[in-house]
Amino acid sequence: MEDFEQYLEQNYFTKQYDNLTKNLADKKILLYGAGKFFNYIYERYDLSKFNIIGIADKKFRNEKFYKSYPVKYIKNCNDSDFDVMLVALQDYKSVVDDFSKKFASKKIIPLVKQYFLNHIQFLLTRHCNMNCVACSHFATISDKEFYSFETFSKDLRRIKEICPEVKSFAFVGGEPLLNKDISKMLELTRDLFPSSYMDIISNGLLVKSMTEDFWKTLEKTGTTINITAYPILENKHKEIEEYIKSKNVNGQIYCSENLINHNLKFFKRFNIDAKSDKKEAWEKCFSKNCHTLYNGYFGGCYFPSVADIANNVFNLDIDYKSSLINIHDENVTLDDILDLCENPQEICKYCDTELEHVDWYRITEKPFKMSDFFVRQKP
Ligand code: SF4
Ligand code: SF4
Repeated sequence: MEDFEQYLEQNYFTKQYDNLTKNLADKKILLYGAGKFFNYIYERYDLSKFNIIGIADKKFRNEKFYKSYPVKYIKNCNDSDFDVMLVALQDYKSVVDDFSKKFASKKIIPLVKQYFLNHIQFLLTRHCNMNCVACSHFATISDKEFYSFETFSKDLRRIKEICPEVKSFAFVGGEPLLNKDISKMLELTRDLFPSSYMDIISNGLLVKSMTEDFWKTLEKTGTTINITAYPILENKHKEIEEYIKSKNVNGQIYCSENLINHNLKFFKRFNIDAKSDKKEAWEKCFSKNCHTLYNGYFGGCYFPSVADIANNVFNLDIDYKSSLINIHDENVTLDDILDLCENPQEICKYCDTELEHVDWYRITEKPFKMSDFFVRQKP
């Protein structure tokens, strides 16, 4: 029982309950799940604020009522019986998915949603000192822009207001070590989110030129530094790892098999035709959990936060604005943000499901070629 109490507290159920009773006031609700979790909630919360037309559970056989609610049998239910199904299970994801397919026109939602964000990454700067071909963040073609500490601080405090718990933060770029305010940003994040995992993802070029203060901040805030290995540091991996260790900081080099074979492959997946099926692209996407915050705007992944760079350089018209949330809009709630993270967005139409591989190299001079960043146009 105590577990349920903790679970409800961790997921701010009182707040969720208030939102649900408000948002579902005029809806016919079918409850699904009549186990211990539901009973715990039933005994402690006033569910009469919902218009519950029945309760369903696979355990029911011939029952007519449960806790005074009419028992419904899913096999006999159809879309016209209810407006919203509330799933009263802790492990709700697969049930919500299955019923969303079966009752395609209805809203199927958990009674208690996991009310936190797993991850946010910050683009501390959008440019980079590596300048890779096919950089998916378009850092190679970006102007020298930084996330200022003032804006970062305003954004982070707003995130704390909307979402008191975020499991992990990544400080990325471009190359994040180029931002001179990185230490202040790490300290503020640790102050506001004392138990979140924090890491920096760097290309390693600047590691040995960072100040002692920077390393002390990493140690103090418990921040890990992860280095993506590129061929130009190939003989220095061990040295860099030992250097990081000597600073009492956790860190490692991520070295792909390709690199060991002296043949680092990058890939392109953005197309400018916007012809992809956004749902299919999103479902197959390995970047959909890279939720990104930059200059007051939150995106389900990094693409909408950098698409304007490609638009400017190549004179394109990628529609990215509808895939971003302005976190300073006073009406924005965590539900809006979770919704953005958990569903395909318009911008996913610009992502192919098949990746186009390219040999890695550094782009050293202009003019930039669109074919270095976008897949071949389809006939
Ligand atoms: S190191 Fe990373 S961010 Fe920098 S250009 Fe290469 S892929 Fe882009
Ligand atoms: S836009 Fe959609 S499909 Fe493309 S990288 Fe982002 S989440 Fe993935």
